[in-house]
Amino acid sequence: MQKKLQVEAIEHGSVIDHIPAQQGVKILKFFKFTQTKEKITIGLNLATHNGEGKDLIKIENTFFNDQQANQLALFAPNATINQIKDFKVVNKFQVQLPSSFIGVLVCPNSNCISHNEPVNTRFYVHQKNSLKLKCHYCEKSFERSTFDELD
Ligand SMILES: [Zn+2]
Repeated sequence: MQKKLQVEAIEHGSVIDHIPAQQGVKILKFFKFTQTKEKITIGLNLATHNGEGKDLIKIENTFFNDQQANQLALFAPNATINQIKDFKVVNKFQVQLPSSFIGVLVCPNSNCISHNEPVNTRFYVHQKNSLKLKCHYCEKSFERSTFDELD
């Protein structure tokens, strides 16, 4: 039996699906979606087959560029982005972790030179299963969960 759609359809914009539960609100904050005037529909803790739950975001008149899709992977490495036009999915792709993040994260190491110098932070992604990031400046590696809330 086909289950009913859990969130209403949108006419034109993006649907981000397969966001791990608890990450949806962080994504809204990080991309400052709530500061736009676009209509946003979110689903939190939606049912999934594995029982872990997921979040889902639908936002009108908004499309992700490659850089944003990469940044989305920090929150939701397995997310898919559906581009909707006239209520139809015209493009669907999975986010991909880039090899590095520049100017997005703050180094968890309080002694790191990046806190005191006017430089863009730079982290290399070096383990793709449990996301680990290595700081270009202090060369320490950190689990994704070590980083303070991004904003
Ligand atoms: Zn560092």
